[in-house]
Amino acid sequence: MSDCLFCNIVEGSIPSHKVYEDDDFLAFKDIKPQSPVHVLVLPKRHVEQLSHCGEEDKDLLSGLMLTANRVAKKLGIDSSGFRVAINSGKEGGQVVFHLHLHLMGGARLSDQMA
Ligand code: AMP
Ligand code: ZN
Repeated sequence: MSDCLFCNIVEGSIPSHKVYEDDDFLAFKDIKPQSPVHVLVLPKRHVEQLSHCGEEDKDLLSGLMLTANRVAKKLGIDSSGFRVAINSGKEGGQVVFHLHLHLMGGARLSDQMA
């Protein structure tokens, strides 16, 4: 068993409320939502954080964004609007060190929320 929480969720050894899955990406509900819709979108491949990504991760990063778009559409918040946020590193507020994007919407978000 990997010691990465999100790798365990990807593998199914830790349960999650999945909202989208394909060969490369997974999206599931955040356990502590900060907005009516709060979903985490992540690559199945373990990448620690955004700042570790380089040229070789172009496809992964564009795929992550496009998956966020697809999930927003699936959840019906594409036209009302949504926010995506990525915390990179400790001072960026990252707590789980497997690259993920926060997709938030379902209400007008405050300026502070990230
Ligand atoms: P970050 O601060 O960007 O690393 O975000 C980590 C996010 O993961 C937080 O919003 C947590 O609420 C969320 N989280 C932690 N454990 C779980 C879990 N088991 N299932 C779903 N979301 C989780
Ligand atoms: Zn991982």
